[in-house]
Amino acid sequence: MTAPDAGPCPGWCADSHDGEPAAERAHCARVRLIDLSTMPLIAGKHVQRLALDLVQEPGEDEPRVQLRIGDYLLAQLTIAECERAGIALVGLAALARDVEL
Ligand SMILES: [Zn+2]
Repeated sequence: MTAPDAGPCPGWCADSHDGEPAAERAHCARVRLIDLSTMPLIAGKHVQRLALDLVQEPGEDEPRVQLRIGDYLLAQLTIAECERAGIALVGLAALARDVEL
């Protein structure tokens, strides 16, 4: 969210920044979490989750998408790479379900 006097924040930013100077802000979207039902449980009881986030560090021209499991960064994608990955994932799901797109 963008406070009126908080300086520039992209429309997708969900961080309040709490008084951070505008030039030092790392913008983050609301994290999307996907339960991974075929991954080993954590400590034998907690499902692992894939966290998808949109992040833009100070000085970066565009955001990137980060894929994490817990604290482990699996990959970070440019927006173009994210679009290609998303199309590929939907294509694989359609292939598995024998559905034509
Ligand atoms: Zn922001």
